[in-house]
Amino acid sequence: MVRIYALSCGAMEFDRRAFFPDDPAGARLGIPVPAFLLVHPKGRVLFDTGIHCDTLRDPVARLGERTGRFFQMYCGATEGVVNQLGLLGIRADAVTHVVNSHLHFDHCGCNASFPQTTILVQREEMLAAGAAASQYSGRDWDQPLNYELVDGERDLFGDGTLLLIPTPGHTQGHQSLCVNAGRGRRLERRRDEALAGHAARPARAQGNDTDLRSRRRSVGVIARCSRSARVTILRRPGDEVNR
Ligand SMILES: [Zn+2]
Repeated sequence: MVRIYALSCGAMEFDRRAFFPDDPAGARLGIPVPAFLLVHPKGRVLFDTGIHCDTLRDPVARLGERTGRFFQMYCGATEGVVNQLGLLGIRADAVTHVVNSHLHFDHCGCNASFPQTTILVQREEMLAAGAAASQYSGRDWDQPLNYELVDGERDLFGDGTLLLIPTPGHTQGHQSLCVNAGRGRRLERRRDEALAGHAARPARAQGNDTDLRSRRRSVGVIARCSRSARVTILRRPGDEVNR
């Protein structure tokens, strides 16, 4: 049995055309920044770590002029991954595994709050983030943390309940987490695949997709998973978890 908690790490707002290029100028898109805690008998797994508090306070200083001015960020006093864990009575050092879907600043911003924890990242993602021409903000991930690089699929505890699945496209080494939540029910958390639209076969690249062909294939993987029995795709904090 796995217990799942949706954590709120604030929200972001930006030009809607970044993800939907055909939309009219001036339209804004607001999105939540979630993380998920999965409590398994063998460990506490955190999926993504949200945005660093310095980024929330002064995005231009942290991310640079171009990216920092592009995003409007919001975060309440009790939001943020460490605060949200605290509300559950869980200290950061009690988290046994962190999984980063990918290494954009809104998914790994608080990795440094988990210095003792094994942090699972696809090797492809780490290579892409560290490449010479990388657009990633190294401040969030490029630190002496306990990274474990994953090549492809991984059954986290060897019992089929928590499966890491590569879903490249939004980034080169993007991964999703498929959860067999018990009682015949499966939940799957995918991150920016949901944000980038619901089309099973996106016709063109959206947002900062790195590879449209890979993203189409990844959306297909998720769609096949969701067509199988009783799978629910989680798109935002609170979805399905409390039912
Ligand atoms: Zn991203």
